[in-house]
Amino acid sequence: MKELTYVRPTDARDAVARVSDDPHARFLGGGTNLVDHLKLGLLTPDVLVDVSRLPLDEVTRLDDGTLRIGTNVRNSDLAAHPVVRSSYPAVTRALLAGASGQIRNQATTGGNLLQRTRCVYFQDVTTPCNKREPGSGCSAIGGYGRYDAVLGASEACVATHPSDLAVALAALDAVVVVLGRDGERRVPMSDFHRLPGHHPETDTTLAHGELVTSVELPPESALTRASDYRKVRDRASYAFALVSVAAALELDGDVVRDVRIAWGGVAHRPWRAAAAEEALRGETYSEEAVRAAAELELAAAVTGPDNAYKIPMVRNATAYALRGLADRSSERTGATR
Ligand SMILES: Cc1cc2nc3c(=O)[nH]c(=O)nc-3n(C[C@H](O)[C@H](O)[C@H](O)COP(=O)(O)OP(=O)(O)OC[C@H]3O[C@@H](n4cnc5c(N)ncnc54)[C@H](O)[C@@H]3O)c2cc1C
Ligand code: SF4
Repeated sequence: MKELTYVRPTDARDAVARVSDDPHARFLGGGTNLVDHLKLGLLTPDVLVDVSRLPLDEVTRLDDGTLRIGTNVRNSDLAAHPVVRSSYPAVTRALLAGASGQIRNQATTGGNLLQRTRCVYFQDVTTPCNKREPGSGCSAIGGYGRYDAVLGASEACVATHPSDLAVALAALDAVVVVLGRDGERRVPMSDFHRLPGHHPETDTTLAHGELVTSVELPPESALTRASDYRKVRDRASYAFALVSVAAALELDGDVVRDVRIAWGGVAHRPWRAAAAEEALRGETYSEEAVRAAAELELAAAVTGPDNAYKIPMVRNATAYALRGLADRSSERTGATR
């Protein structure tokens, strides 16, 4: 048995100092991912710094309308929050599409974003994996490839990011607030998770010891209110995404005034479909236009026999998500299409 020191600081700066000063220390949130990794022998820290009781568990509306979500807000509480439900429905739907009620009661906002890939080889310490052990190789390449990334993968790693919440936050232009040794900094969601490149062992742009303290959503708008999350998975609950789509749509009559699209299950990070958004903005909304825009975004996709199904799946899921939002917009305005 490996000895482990457990500490529970009451101050965020103290927590940051304890992890920053010790390469073998790790933050502990709700523990629903990290404790599994301890049991699997995938992670062997000397010190666990429990940050789950730090007073960062409030959802607050700031004066400028920004919604600040403390890192320790549990996934269940965030999903049920009345402002989140009404003003940012994609966030509620993404959370409720993930894990189980019990896990959501325990899992924290920050921990959810920092959860690690579910690549089967990453979790099996008997197999080579560059993410677990840099330079050892990637067992997924040429191995079981059903869950592999189709966008932004590298020769070192083809894993996907598993968080549903992160996809909704990416679509809604959330900002992650982190505290480090040198103070606070703000990281747009689009810069928070990394593509694997030559260093798949690093999931995010955080330095060791940087603590997520909150996530901020921009002030509510017609666009955030008209947002949704659709997830395709092997069974109706308790399953990670094969692909998922977070979308928001604002129509002016038939014309796309603004649109947001982010994909899950296709890459090492939530994939913001910026080219597809650009193609749709200012155009007349139609399902054909949405499919063509998705196709444009997918032009750089690389697939093998096991994961080629993700291409039509994510295109269809995008069309489905936007169709639902367009129909609701028409119901509200009485417009016909
Ligand atoms: C059976 C099962 C099914 C699941 N299904 C889904 C699913 O469908 N969709 C989905 O999105 N998720 C799913 N999950 C994952 C679950 O959502 C995550 O385990 C959970 O959100 C992690 O949050 P946590 O607070 O427990 O994190 P922890 O396990 O405590 O920590 C996870 C990581 O985050 C780091 N960390 C924690 N807090 C902070 C912080 N404040 N700052 C910096 N680093 C921090 C830890 O060091 C660790 O590396 C599932 C999990 C299980 C076990
Ligand atoms: S895909 Fe990434 S996580 Fe999976 S085995 Fe390869 S290196 Fe490891």
